Amino acid sequence: MAEIPTAAISRLVTYLRILEQLEAQDVSRTSSSDLAERAGVSAFQVRKDLAYFGRFGTRGMGYTVAILKRELVRVLGLNQTWNVVIVGMGRLGQAIANYPGASDYQFQYAGLFDVSPAIVGQQIRNLTVRHMDDLKTFVAQNKVDMGFLAVPPDRAQDAAQALVSAGVRGILNFAPVVIQPPTEGGAQEISDEWRAVIIENVDFLAGMKRLAFYILNPHLKDAPLTEDTE
Ligand code: NAD
Repeated sequence: MAEIPTAAISRLVTYLRILEQLEAQDVSRTSSSDLAERAGVSAFQVRKDLAYFGRFGTRGMGYTVAILKRELVRVLGLNQTWNVVIVGMGRLGQAIANYPGASDYQFQYAGLFDVSPAIVGQQIRNLTVRHMDDLKTFVAQNKVDMGFLAVPPDRAQDAAQALVSAGVRGILNFAPVVIQPPTEGGAQEISDEWRAVIIENVDFLAGMKRLAFYILNPHLKDAPLTEDTE
């Protein structure tokens, strides 16, 4: 498969959301120009993004909403259950755990973890917050795939290490720090356990900073991709 820009994956998530909205409105067919208009990109961009993963429509005929939606769900891996732990059950961890939207796509909060005696043992939704000492056993026994990291910045690297050592395959890092694979004794070798882990960062404060920059420099915002700009 050709190398796929990260932005294209973000747009696929947007196209999927639009297809869900169309389905909810009983719209059965769409086109690249319709999707483009709703997503705020060009029709060429839509066709290019979808083309990374195969041929989904018939040229000139557009797409069947249900089929394109099913294909995007498959491409994004949302047709399987993902078991998630949240590490750090303070303000943010609790807000995430209490937000119901994650279960729309088989993301299941299997376990909640913290180190604070004031929080460990608390009941949040239907789960009891556990101590980090139990993380490794829990991840193995419950086939946990992902960890959401919501600990203070100065605890994030250690907590990420605990998740990696426990064997999760992905970390959604909310802490405003860059999680780095450890390089012991200056060695540049990254261990297999770290090499196997995907880390995604979520930071609304960074979004605010980008927003401030683009409000001051609107002409520097990316122009929509068209066939001419290819
Ligand atoms: P908080 O202090 O309310 O909660 C942090 C929790 O982590 C506490 O319950 C603490 O006991 C626990 N903790 C500390 N060390 C731990 C460890 N080693 N293992 C497990 N748990 C541990 O903090 P908060 O306001 O919920 O913020 C959490 C993190 O999220 C911070 O890094 C903050 O900067 C970040 N944040 C990110 C965004 C975003 O958009 N990405 C938004 C808000 C906050």
